[in-house]
Amino acid sequence: MTNELNSLLLLIISSPSGAGKTTLTHRLLQDFQDLRFSVSHTTRSPRLNEVDGQDYHFVSQDKFKQMVDAGEFAEWAEVHGNFYGTAVHEIARAQQDQKAALLFDVDYQGARQIKAKYRDAVAVFILPPSMGELQRRLEGRATDAPASIKKRIGNAPEEIRHYPFFDYLIVNDDLQTALSALKGVIQAERCRRWRMAGVAEELIRGT
Ligand code: ADP
Ligand code: 5GP
Repeated sequence: MTNELNSLLLLIISSPSGAGKTTLTHRLLQDFQDLRFSVSHTTRSPRLNEVDGQDYHFVSQDKFKQMVDAGEFAEWAEVHGNFYGTAVHEIARAQQDQKAALLFDVDYQGARQIKAKYRDAVAVFILPPSMGELQRRLEGRATDAPASIKKRIGNAPEEIRHYPFFDYLIVNDDLQTALSALKGVIQAERCRRWRMAGVAEELIRGT
């Protein structure tokens, strides 16, 4: 039988920086009203287009450390020289609000930690079509300083090396094609037998 706790789809979306996971995530949130985005905490400075509390909770290093010490994170990691973490209450709130799915935009370290705690979580890795295109996208996005772009491109091969850990790999070449593949994953995962067992059981009971 399913219940309200385990019917929530925990969907992890990871990629090297610039592969397009934020773009894909925003499109998913527009198209599926019953998804929630897990707003992470970070010590990184906000980009010009980012809204505190919506894209991230932007916090100081001290505040982040306090939260680590207080056990407030379900997972956290250092990525590209900044700290990022998912607060436990993000997951609890999505469960309380009876959302169908909670989307995590986290790196491979976060993906591993979430899967270790919630074994039914589903992890998708977004790949760029080529390293040249990844660089063009990071430069074209023009949100990060040149040194940060260089670091992100330099870290990409090591991040991609973790692909065997993920359940699904999607190449984000054409955006619509990648979006369709991602929607397909969500729709298939929602139909998992164990997630839908309650519906079948109710029919058997005649309710
Ligand atoms: P990430 O969140 O993975 O760091 P973004 O979603 O910010 O990446 O995308 C990086 C840049 O690439 C953005 O400027 C975005 O508009 C662009 N982009 C995303 N997907 C595609 C695509 N399929 N084709 C071309 N450009 C894309
Ligand atoms: P950005 O600075 O481009 O927003 O994110 C940089 C990296 O940090 C990306 O790989 C992103 O997925 C990851 N990230 C964002 N939030 C979290 C989080 O809460 N935990 C972990 N582990 N990684 C995160």
